[in-house]
Amino acid sequence: MSESLLQSLKSVYTGRLFTDAIDKQPYLLDWRKRKQGVALAVAEPDSAEGVACVVRWCAANNVVVVPQGGNTGLSGGGTPEPAETAALPAVVISLKKMNRVRSIDVVNNTLTVEAGCILETIQEAAAQAGRLFPLSLASEGSCTVGGNLSTNAGGVNVLRYGNARELCLGLEVVTAQGEVWNGLRGLRKDNTGYDLRDLFIGAEGTLGIITAAVLKLYPLPASRQVAWVSVESPDVALQLLGLAQAKLGAALTAFELISEVAHGIVLKHVPNSRRPLADVSPWYVLMEVVDFNNDEACTVALQAILEAALQASLISDAAVSSSEAQYKAIWALREDVSEAQAAEGKNIKHDIAVPVSQVANFVRETHELVAAAFPAVRMVTFGHLGDGNLHYNVSPPLDQLHEEFLKNQDAINLIVHDSVARFNGSVSAEHGLGTLRRDEAARYKSSVEMNMMRAVKQALDPHGIMNPNKVLAV
Ligand SMILES: Cc1cc2nc3c(=O)[nH]c(=O)nc-3n(C[C@H](O)[C@H](O)[C@H](O)COP(=O)(O)OP(=O)(O)OC[C@H]3O[C@@H](n4cnc5c(N)ncnc54)[C@H](O)[C@@H]3O)c2cc1C
Repeated sequence: MSESLLQSLKSVYTGRLFTDAIDKQPYLLDWRKRKQGVALAVAEPDSAEGVACVVRWCAANNVVVVPQGGNTGLSGGGTPEPAETAALPAVVISLKKMNRVRSIDVVNNTLTVEAGCILETIQEAAAQAGRLFPLSLASEGSCTVGGNLSTNAGGVNVLRYGNARELCLGLEVVTAQGEVWNGLRGLRKDNTGYDLRDLFIGAEGTLGIITAAVLKLYPLPASRQVAWVSVESPDVALQLLGLAQAKLGAALTAFELISEVAHGIVLKHVPNSRRPLADVSPWYVLMEVVDFNNDEACTVALQAILEAALQASLISDAAVSSSEAQYKAIWALREDVSEAQAAEGKNIKHDIAVPVSQVANFVRETHELVAAAFPAVRMVTFGHLGDGNLHYNVSPPLDQLHEEFLKNQDAINLIVHDSVARFNGSVSAEHGLGTLRRDEAARYKSSVEMNMMRAVKQALDPHGIMNPNKVLAV
C-alpha cells in the first residue's frame, strides 16, 4: 500500500522527497521531544507550484497534509499523528526550501518573502535595507515566517509592534484543493470583502499552506538599550509598566517579567551567564527602550524612567546595558529560560494570557492554588508582562522524579486553566493549540464559537486533509 502510494506520488511530483526512516525522522519528532509522528514521506518543494502539486495528489489520494516550517512549535501542530492514532497516511510538506526573499519596497515599507525564510534572515534582510522587521523570538535562528504566521507568533516586541498577524499585509496560499491563491498585496487599506488572509494566519496549517507573505517594515532605531531591574512583586512590575508607558510611549518596545526561580535555572544551565545585579530579588523586569536619533537620547530616556521608578520605590536596583554586548547578554538571560528549563528536565508548560491589569492577581491566586494541591513544586514564571502573556511553567519539586511528576499534568493544567478562565484569559497566548491545547481550548470556548470555527474549517478544507486533529478535533 505505502509503496504503491509512493510510486504514485513520485509519478506526479519530482521535487525533493524523503522516504527513508532516517531522513524523515527530524521532521517527525517535535521540538520538545514529546510527540513522535509517522508519515509516508516528507516533501520539500521549492516553489508554490511544487507545494500545490503535492497537495493536489494528497487530496486525490485521501492522504493527510502536515505543513512544517522550522519545527520549533511548542503545541505539536507541525508533527504528524503518532502511529496509534493516525487514521490516514500523511505527507509532511516542509517549506524549508522555499526560502527566498522575493522583493523589498523601502518606500512602501514592505518585504515579500517565501514561507520557509528563517525569521533571523528576514530581520537581517530588513536591516540591510535600513529597516526593522520587529518580530523577535528566542527561536528566531530556526523558526520560519510561515510557521510564525501560522501560529500568529508573539515574542518580545508585541508591546510596540503587535504579533505576527499585525505584521503581515498579504499572503500567497496553497489551498486544500491544491490551487495557488495570490493574495500578496502590500496594501494598508483594502476593504474588499472577507479578510481571507486573517483566516490563514493562526490556523496552524489546518486551512491551507502559506507559501509567501508581504511583511511590514518599520524605521530602524538608531539606539536600543535594555535595563534589568529588581522588583518586589508582579503588582509592582505592573506599576512600573504604567509609569514606563506614560513616560516613554512608543519608545518602550519590550517589558518582560522574570521570576528569580526562572533566573536561577538560567544561571545554573547556561554557560557564562551571570547575575546583572548583586542582590537577589523575587522578581525582575527587563525593559527595552529605543531612540531614532542617537545613543545619548536613549540613555537619557531610560535613566529618567529608572530615576522616577526609584523615587516612587518601585525598583530597588537596576543594571543598564552600555554596549551591544551587554544588551545581548541581558536579553540572553530572558531568552535562554526555555532552553535552560529543558536542560533542567521535564516540566509542565502553560502559555497563558490574561488582561494586563489582572496579571498580578492571576499569579497570586494561581500560585496559591497550585501550591496547595502540589506542595514544593517550582513555579518557573516568566514572560511578556506588557502583553499580559506569561509562560506559567511548573517544574517538579527538587526531590521528585520528573517522569513521576508528569503524571500530575492534567490536574495541574486544570488548576491553571480554570484560573485563566476566571480571569477571562486564554489558554494559548502565542503558541497555538496544535494537539497540546486543542481540547482544553474547546472546553473553555462557547458552542457558538466552536461551531463557527468548524464551519470555517469545513468551508476551506471540506475533505479534512489539512493537518487534521490540530486546532479542532476531527
Ligand atoms: C526556545 C523557543 C522559544 C520560543 N519563543 C517563542 C515566543 O517568544 N513567542 C512565540 O510566539 N513562539 C515562541 N516559540 C514557539 C515557536 O518558535 C513559534 O511557534 C514559531 O512561530 C513556529 O515556527 P516554525 O517555523 O518552527 O513552525 P513549525 O513548528 O514548523 O509549525 C508550527 C505550526 O504552523 C504550521 N505551519 C508551519 N509552516 C506553515 C506554513 N508555511 N503554512 C501553513 N502552516 C504552517 C505547522 O503545521 C504547525 O501547526 C518558541 C519556541 C522555542 C523552541
